[in-house]
Amino acid sequence: MSTNDNLVTANFISQIITNDLKEHKNEGKVATRFPPEPNGYLHIGHAKSICLNFGMAAEFKGSCNLRFDDTNPEKESIEYMQSIERDVQWLGFEWAGLHHASDYFEQLYGYAVQLIEQGLAYVDSLSAEQIRIYRGTLTEPGKESPDRDRSIADNLDLFQRMRAGDFADGQYVLRAKIDMASPNINMRDPALYRIRRVHHQRTGDAWCIYPMYDYTHCISDAIEGITHSLCTLEFEDHRPLYDWVLDQLPDLAHPQQIEFARLQLEYTIVSKRKLNQLVMEKHVQGWDDPRMPTIAGLRRAGFTPKSIRDFCERIGVTKQNSWIEMGVLEYCIREDLNENALRAMAVLQPLRVVIDNYPDEQTEELEVSNHPQRHELGKRIVPFSKVILIEQDDFAEIPPPKFKRLIDGGEVRLRGSYVIKCNEVIKNAEGKIIELRCSYDADTLGKNPEGRKVKGVIHWVSEPHSQPAEIRLYDRLFKVPQPDNEENFLDAINPDSLHVLCDARVEASLVNAQAETGYQFERTGYFCLDTQDSVEGKLVFNRTVSLRDGGWGND
Ligand code: ATP
Ligand code: MG
Repeated sequence: MSTNDNLVTANFISQIITNDLKEHKNEGKVATRFPPEPNGYLHIGHAKSICLNFGMAAEFKGSCNLRFDDTNPEKESIEYMQSIERDVQWLGFEWAGLHHASDYFEQLYGYAVQLIEQGLAYVDSLSAEQIRIYRGTLTEPGKESPDRDRSIADNLDLFQRMRAGDFADGQYVLRAKIDMASPNINMRDPALYRIRRVHHQRTGDAWCIYPMYDYTHCISDAIEGITHSLCTLEFEDHRPLYDWVLDQLPDLAHPQQIEFARLQLEYTIVSKRKLNQLVMEKHVQGWDDPRMPTIAGLRRAGFTPKSIRDFCERIGVTKQNSWIEMGVLEYCIREDLNENALRAMAVLQPLRVVIDNYPDEQTEELEVSNHPQRHELGKRIVPFSKVILIEQDDFAEIPPPKFKRLIDGGEVRLRGSYVIKCNEVIKNAEGKIIELRCSYDADTLGKNPEGRKVKGVIHWVSEPHSQPAEIRLYDRLFKVPQPDNEENFLDAINPDSLHVLCDARVEASLVNAQAETGYQFERTGYFCLDTQDSVEGKLVFNRTVSLRDGGWGND
């Protein structure tokens, strides 16, 4: 998948799987899963997990499931499930099976009964607060609950009545009976089930008890025949519990949990909870705001699936947490767009230029290449006429040193067109430049002028043929590289992350701009059409990325 094959190095997980296959573990089968909780949209961190899980399945001719970890109904929704399916598919992956933890509620209940029967789980009446106090600390062992030695018969009865709805929310929990003195706090009789009267997006009101994540995850993996359960490092301390549950249920297979480092990306946030807060408090326009690190946001900003997959491959998979520079992601999209984006001309901040010696009613249809290297991408017609627009920045009355663009009395080439010369600068009453009067050299179309060198080349559009457009330039959403480490990440929001240029004009051919097609607007950056906000007569383009690192456009 990488554009640079040298970069493809086997990660430590693929080495583990290779060894497992050599030893013929799992009958030579490889099965992975991507298990999001449907409590928000997927972000770039999830893309890492998706690429890894689907990637391992592909590499070893195995399968990868999409499984919704839907055990927390109060935070979950069908909208989130749909967005997750859409995003995984858009990234280019196909799941073998689409499952939900809630598909297994009945089985999970049955296994809990089995644990109770084995004397390995008990119903506890301690309150949440008491359980917390009894749990102890890293330096102090926990204390056993008075209910820990309740009889199996009583536990079975109470658990059955928990399910039947005989008790109030929070009145009881079902806990595993492991070891209150374990140095690993996760092993101090963790809760397996809680009572919660919440409508579930799939099971409705069938259940008023819901299984906890740690209990659900390992059993769901086992039920689906997952062989390698890949998760992020914070679950390392949960692995003993994952293994404990499955060790007690010998009729279930026992997948291997392997942890890898989460993606942390500079100048943004990869936590659904915090992204949710940005959306709910309207710091951004929605989950798919182009400044968001969500898959939907990146997509709307003009990132391609290929660039995101390439990024995930470049950053690799390790056991060390580290911060990745935003520049790496930008590099990947630039590589893709430089190769594949169609070239077009757009003037972001127009300055009117009248070419006095050009015939009044004439229009020329110039043929301009869609891509400087890839001739198979063809040519398009760019109309040229007496009145054109250039970028305000491309003219300077008092030019800075090495300025190669247009100056009063100077010449410049219009990309794909003629050389023009500025003869007069027109200003309004406030002294603002509003128009340039120029002349063109009719003998410079596709060739150099006689007897002189013209160095600069600028982009332009024909005023009467151009289309009005709004251009949205995005900058980083946060002012600091690690907003997650701030006391309040909201204080680190960059107040200038969006610049809207309302008076831009784009070349005529862009009325046919397609969704999710990248354009390089000559000299100003890579852009794509915002299909949600574009209306007839006013196209909206989002800048995906500048042409160069740290660049804002004009050279
Ligand atoms: P968040 O904190 O954003 O809600 P999460 O881990 O709670 O993340 P899940 O929906 O549970 O979100 O994640 C699904 C899968 O994606 C998990 O296996 C999780 O480990 C993985 N994942 C989540 N965030 C990242 C990340 N930043 N880098 C790599 N993998 C991630
Ligand atoms: Mg989670």
